[in-house]
Amino acid sequence: MSVESNSIMVVQELIPGLYYLRGRFAPEFGFISTYIIVDDDQALLVDPGTAGDPGDLIIKALKELGLKPKSDLKGIICTHGHPDHIGGVGRLQQSTDASVMIHKNDAELLETPDLFLKKRLRMDFAKRFAMKFDKSPLRVNFRPVTPDRILVDGDTIKVGRRILSVIYTGGHSEGHIVLYEKSNNLLFSGDEINNFPNDPRKFYVDLSGSLTNKIAATEQLRNMKIDYLLPAHDVFHIGADANLQIKEVQDGVVHFQDTVLALLKVRGEADVDQIVLDIDRSRSVPYPVLMDSLLPTTVEVALKSLRLAGLVATDDENIWFLP
Ligand SMILES: [Zn+2]
Repeated sequence: MSVESNSIMVVQELIPGLYYLRGRFAPEFGFISTYIIVDDDQALLVDPGTAGDPGDLIIKALKELGLKPKSDLKGIICTHGHPDHIGGVGRLQQSTDASVMIHKNDAELLETPDLFLKKRLRMDFAKRFAMKFDKSPLRVNFRPVTPDRILVDGDTIKVGRRILSVIYTGGHSEGHIVLYEKSNNLLFSGDEINNFPNDPRKFYVDLSGSLTNKIAATEQLRNMKIDYLLPAHDVFHIGADANLQIKEVQDGVVHFQDTVLALLKVRGEADVDQIVLDIDRSRSVPYPVLMDSLLPTTVEVALKSLRLAGLVATDDENIWFLP
């Protein structure tokens, strides 16, 4: 029996007017997820994924829902600017009149896609070159897009009679937002709350991110009424599982930060690479292992959050020590 399902539509209605679209499986990334919200023959898209995954299914999905993609797709909201979620924006923008929306702090990643690898992961030329030859969802191979609307905390986005509220989180990247629909208790959590995959304690942040913001965001979101938690990777979470998931993400961030502090205490002073080596050898925290640029960025951001709390110090952001 064939399990090849690339040509089969995978759109699923979760509640009336909320559709879940799942891409193919990628190791460490799971299934990249896209959501379509429909009301009054108007549609809004949250995170289109890469151009092919599930980006190439979106136009077909809209048609299957009885919509005219060009005129009925009103907006494309990017929870943040990472390639695995914005790679599909350019192609959709060409074939629809949808307004592209993103927070101001991640707009640069839509406008200059290469900045993700160069600035947010600080990848050298050799690594960026090597990435052109693998199929990583983080590869940057898409055309730049100028956003139509810049989002800030507290903004609202309407589709038909439905209203989404923008909540700035800024943990996973400095332009990360989540979207809350109060009337249905839906939270579109992007990569701020996800299981990356199969373990909500496994996460990474780019160099612009903040663990301080991430912990504050999880604290805020934990206290909200959520019936559906809708992340940008893998499956959604329903009811009490939603709050459990947020709690696990928070625990993971605290555990990661405490581990970095403990390892620094053992060494007395260390640079980021030495702490990465210690984490790798001790396997003391779960982290994405296939992309070896993601752990150093997360360690560096953790050190900066610890410095904010007065727990570590550095003279030049190279060698870190206890104050
Ligand atoms: Zn991301």
